[in-house]
Amino acid sequence: MLTEEKQRLLKKAAHTLKNEIELSKDDMADEADLASALTDQALSLRLRGRERYLIEKIDLAIERIAEGEFGECVVCGDDISIKRLRARPVTTMCIACKEEQERRERMYSD
Ligand SMILES: [Zn+2]
Repeated sequence: MLTEEKQRLLKKAAHTLKNEIELSKDDMADEADLASALTDQALSLRLRGRERYLIEKIDLAIERIAEGEFGECVVCGDDISIKRLRARPVTTMCIACKEEQERRERMYSD
């Protein structure tokens, strides 16, 4: 599951990159187009940043399988439920610790 997802992300990243190259060939003549092209490029750069982040998480999960730590919560050490691992194989926290983290993030985000 993890290696399949990694392949999918790599393909998507390659596709984004290809679109960018085509974009810079076509639209650079016009000033106004240049401005919007930059916005689009900034967007796809951010997308690639997110893909890179996800790929790193997948690599970490694969590493944790190799080390026999996969499925263990990094915070409390409890087993993460199979149901949660199936839905989010890259997760490193049990549902209780994840909820606690999200609750704390919300407290500081507003
Ligand atoms: Zn936990």
